[in-house]
Amino acid sequence: MSKKTQVTKIGVLTSGGDAPGMNAAIRAVIRTGNYYGLEMFGVMRGYAGLVEDDIFPMDNRSVANIIQRGGTILKTARCKEFYEYEGRKIAYENLKKRGINGLVVIGGDGSFNGAQKFSNEFDIPCIGLPGTIDKDIAGTDFTIGFDTAVNTAIEAIDKIRDTMDAHDRLFIVEVMGRDAGYIALHSGVGTGAENILIPEAETDMDQLVASLYEKEKRKKLVNLVVVTEGDKYGGASGVAKIVKEKIPQADVRVCILGHIQRGGAPSSLDRFIASRMGYHAVECLLNGTHNVMVGIVNNHMHYTPLNKAIKAKQKISEDWMKIVKVLAS
Ligand code: ADP
Repeated sequence: MSKKTQVTKIGVLTSGGDAPGMNAAIRAVIRTGNYYGLEMFGVMRGYAGLVEDDIFPMDNRSVANIIQRGGTILKTARCKEFYEYEGRKIAYENLKKRGINGLVVIGGDGSFNGAQKFSNEFDIPCIGLPGTIDKDIAGTDFTIGFDTAVNTAIEAIDKIRDTMDAHDRLFIVEVMGRDAGYIALHSGVGTGAENILIPEAETDMDQLVASLYEKEKRKKLVNLVVVTEGDKYGGASGVAKIVKEKIPQADVRVCILGHIQRGGAPSSLDRFIASRMGYHAVECLLNGTHNVMVGIVNNHMHYTPLNKAIKAKQKISEDWMKIVKVLAS
């Protein structure tokens, strides 16, 4: 799109995996757009709503009383048609016939992939807001939903620790994260886990088993292991299987926290960053900063071209891995 074309009508959608705080972001986008006198539209079920023409006007009242709600009022979905040019063309025509000339996509890297293609092919600038509990996107210190997911995991693990301590048991707790260990790292450090297994760092399984064996010999096997679902040993069940094979006498329990980590009222941090990012998404569309993901780095707004937000993955620093080791010793 020519940067000279003034954006006057903006659509907003949530796509891919849901994350707490998406509603706060929707609210901020709609209210900022209305503040500037733009026409604002909601799109149901992510790209599926674009393809199926499920698009409707949104005013300030339509986003009243949602900032504290988990999930997303616009719902989210995965959309096969959007992978194909033909599907994206239908989506474009549905936007065009309403005169919508700007799109805000709240989602993860897959959703940004779609937005990147769409904005390359058609004259609709897109802005991405990082909405993912996994925090697996570069170009931002925060993603919408991560802080809430970590708090949920911490609350659950604290409870597990109570019963674990009472019985001197070994608990292996699985938290979400397909390729990223950030929820495991933060919730593990926050609950004083003895071991944290993440995809970004090599786990010495022999050493882990040896240390558990030592504890078992002292009949004091109270030990909390936090594992990422995407860990190469197959999440908590995979790790438990290995431990039981090597230490059959151990009383090993597995707990998979699962989807509770996606739900619930967003934390104060998630509400705050979602509001800030939503506001800046509209500012970007108005001032010609197009086809970027809005992030926050060192407490400043940071704009990453959508194609870079897609490819880059965050690295977990050596320093963090050392902190985990030292604090658990
Ligand atoms: P997330 O955004 O949470 O990473 P997905 O990877 O499932 O979730 O992507 C969400 C949606 O984005 C997909 O269902 C699809 O409609 C669209 N999408 C993802 N990757 C592409 C792609 N390479 N080309 C076009 N659309 C894509």
